[in-house]
Amino acid sequence: VRVPNDLDSFWMPFTASRAFQENPRLINKADGVYYSTIDGKQLFDGTGGLWCCNAGHNHPRIVKAIQDQAAELDFVHSFGQGHPIAFEAAARVVDLAPGLDHVFFTNSGSEAVDTALKIALAYHMANGEGERRILVGREKAYHGINFGGLSVGGIGANKGQFGTLYPSAAHMRHTVLEENRFSRGQPDHGADLADDLQRLCDLHGGHAIAAVIVEPVSGAGGVFPPPKGYLQRLREICDAHGILLIFDEVITGFGRMGTPFAYEAFGVQPDLVTCAKGMTNATVPMGGVLTTSRVREVFRKAPSKVPDLFHGYTYSGHPLAAAACIATLDVYRDDKVFENARDLAEPWADMLHGLADLDAVIDVRSCGIIGAVQLAQQGAVGDAGRAAHAALWDEGLIARPVGDAMCMSPPLVLTQEHIDEIGATLRRVLGNG
Ligand code: PMP
Repeated sequence: VRVPNDLDSFWMPFTASRAFQENPRLINKADGVYYSTIDGKQLFDGTGGLWCCNAGHNHPRIVKAIQDQAAELDFVHSFGQGHPIAFEAAARVVDLAPGLDHVFFTNSGSEAVDTALKIALAYHMANGEGERRILVGREKAYHGINFGGLSVGGIGANKGQFGTLYPSAAHMRHTVLEENRFSRGQPDHGADLADDLQRLCDLHGGHAIAAVIVEPVSGAGGVFPPPKGYLQRLREICDAHGILLIFDEVITGFGRMGTPFAYEAFGVQPDLVTCAKGMTNATVPMGGVLTTSRVREVFRKAPSKVPDLFHGYTYSGHPLAAAACIATLDVYRDDKVFENARDLAEPWADMLHGLADLDAVIDVRSCGIIGAVQLAQQGAVGDAGRAAHAALWDEGLIARPVGDAMCMSPPLVLTQEHIDEIGATLRRVLGNG
């Protein structure tokens, strides 16, 4: 393997960071739940790629499907023509999503978010309610890095010098409450934080708000499961004011909560769902927006001066992505991947919450097969997280630091032995801190 001398010459996200320059961590192989580096070090992939390799890496059935498809039909665009495999993938995805009947393919989560926001705006225009222009997000939310997602998102570092790019974006308060520390699964306190949406309705008029977007479990902001009743309350307020509710399930989609999508686990029906990542087990890039027939029908019935949504990407429903998606869903079904996630959610939470006695640990959050161990700040925010990340790496475990929260979302095919292994490594490393 040829490694360039000047790593900065190739400007990839975060490879330009000081930490990477000082200690370039180069991974060149993966197998199941493990990665290995160019110097042959093996690591447990505690982050499942980046919250996405739900069936583990290099699954032979998915690899073969991609190879076969590449030999059969590499690419065809979907403007006024198409290919059957994209339709098959669409039907298979929609089959997993009760109440949602259509899917619009994109190539990433960020594109799915921007597409969903545009669908929401266009839906109201087609309905003769073009004055609904406000898009509501939440503090600490991550909705990708494109114009729309950045605008409704709430992570300062991402917004950076750009701020809120869409002029009519508004933000609700986040759901982080002191009294919810160390809660297991959904915290008890905070359903009333959803009333912040009512506040925005009072301020701007409910008829001015087009859509609300939330991650059912806030992920990249540091893993915060929704307080009990919070999502239900959001749904009620949306219904009262004709606002569309979008769940960004880029992380939670495809089994992380033990159900195909998190909205089912939480018992709240959204109008639109964005997904990506686990859709192809992160092999070939693909994302999508799922929606109801009610939303779709408005475009079909729209008067001719309002065209059907004129939106789409060159690679929407790319044959390789579609083939990877179908094979991935076959694997999820045949290997009972979601069932495994459901069965192991309790042992996973036991392991994480078992770390609560460590001095360095000031909060633990978990839900489905995702979780975060919050470390006490030492020095500047992020110093403890960076140090723990490096120490865990040395011990063969990858976790993702978000500030001082060590976030984990391992492949859903993990076993009880893996959970024990992760727990032992975390205890050894964080107990020394
Ligand atoms: N939404 C959420 C909830 C995400 O977690 C992410 C990525 N982590 C995105 C959107 C953006 O996805 P992508 O990086 O594929 O553009």
